[in-house]
Parts: sequence; structure tokens; C-alpha cells
Amino acid sequence: MIFDILTIFPALLDSPLNESIIRRARQEEKIRIDITDIRNFSLDKHAMTDDRPFGGGEGMVMKPEPLTAALRAVQQKNGSGRVILLSPQGRAYTQRVAEELSSLSHLILVCGRYEGVDERFVDAYVDDEISVGDYILTGGELAAMIVIDSVTRLLPGVLGCAESATKDTFSRNLLKHPQFTRPRVFEEQEIPEVLLSGNHEAIEQYRFLISVQRTLDRRPELLKQTDFSKKEIKLLKNHGLYQKIEALQSRPNE
Ligand code: SAM
Repeated sequence: MIFDILTIFPALLDSPLNESIIRRARQEEKIRIDITDIRNFSLDKHAMTDDRPFGGGEGMVMKPEPLTAALRAVQQKNGSGRVILLSPQGRAYTQRVAEELSSLSHLILVCGRYEGVDERFVDAYVDDEISVGDYILTGGELAAMIVIDSVTRLLPGVLGCAESATKDTFSRNLLKHPQFTRPRVFEEQEIPEVLLSGNHEAIEQYRFLISVQRTLDRRPELLKQTDFSKKEIKLLKNHGLYQKIEALQSRPNE
């Protein structure tokens, strides 16, 4: 998978994309990350990449020509790819979108700054706009890192334990069960007894039920989309949880 990032602040991306799992994925050539400085494509002698908005108003707008020239350069080098503008006005980024993107081979992530990007660049060259949440960042770089991080961990062979990503929160519209490690007693708090039983089926059942209960308590809307096996439904019924889920699933979408 190739990630191209177009930014006017390349140094911002250095450290977060050079640590831990992302670093190893790069070293093992599971991913390649190419960072392009849009300023190098400015036509202006002061390397300006922004200008005042037509019609007046606050802030500056990223000019279309440097962005277009930078995009053409990366496409010439690495191929067309999916061009994604990080934008608070884009479609909401979720685990489903991360899964969708992880099936592609080349993403070109365009990081906006200031008041955003000239709309003519967006109309002509952007395939997809992604928002990482309903809040405003100062630039698209953090959002691009969120996309790269979440997509990379879904790629085959990137995580040490292949099963890990399939059991994470959101992978099947459930929050993951709580986790415990040594010591067995911490500040007088014991861990749940069943985890010491060595009974794998009992542990699986406990984890599944607490995961469903936690989702009901914290993110009930997720359960509208959760599929359960016959065995799971029986278990949920035995523990009085299935009625609540059925009620949620039969409610029309808001
Ligand atoms: N004036 C713009 C608006 O009201 O829609 C916001 C511009 S924001 C200060 C600058 C840049 O940060 C955006 O062009 C975008 O690239 C990035 N950005 C900000 N919030 C974001 C979010 N929630 N998701 C993705 N990118 C975001």
C-alpha cells in the first residue's frame, strides 16, 4: 500500500509515522509513505500556497495551482490512486471506511490548512472527502495520520497477532471486553475470577456478554447493526439481554 501525503508542513508528520507498528510496516515494505511539500510547487517566489478569499471574509484559502502541480507530480511517480481530501465536511471516518480503504493499493491524502482549499481543486481532482470527527483541526495532517494508522493495522501481516484487528472494538459493531494483566490484585481490586479458571469457553462467554453489556450501556446505536449467531442469541436470551437488543434493532433509523 502506498500513502502519498500532500502537505505544507511535512515535518509535522515525521515522528508519528516513524514509531512502533507504522515504522515496522515501513521497514518491512508493507506500506510506503511518501510526503510531498506543496510549497515546492508554488509558482510564487515567496513559496506562497495560500491567498485571500474572493468575496472577502476571514482567513486564507489554499491556492489551486500548487496543489494541482503537487498532485500531478505524485501521480506521475506513483500512479493515480484515490485522492482524498481531509475535510470536516467529508463523510464520517469509521472502522468500515478504514476497512474499505485498506482494500486499495494507493491513497493520496491532501491536507488542508487555513480556511481550507479552493473549491475548484476539490471539484476537479478530489475523489473522496473524509472527516475524522465533528470538530475543527488546524490542518489535515493529524487527520491523515489517523487514516494511515487505522488503515495500516488492517493490512495483512502488520499486526503481530493476525486475529487482533478482527476482535477490536467496532470490528463487529461491539465494544471490546475489558482487559486485565498482572498483578492479580491492584489497590485491592481483584480481576474477574473466570479469567483464572482456564475454562476457555467460559472465558469467551464472559467476554462476549460483558462486551454486549458495555455496548448497550455506552454505544447502544452500534447494536442496530450487529449480527449474532444462533448460539450467541441463545446466550443473550439466557442472560436477559436479547430483548433489549431486539428492541433496538427494530427501531427505525433516526
Ligand atoms: N474553514 C473550514 C470549515 O469551516 O469547514 C475549516 C478549515 S480547517 C481550520 C483547516 C483544514 O484542517 C481543513 O481544510 C482540513 O484539511 C483539516 N481539518 C480540520 N478539521 C478536520 C476534520 N474534522 N477532519 C478532517 N480534516 C480536518
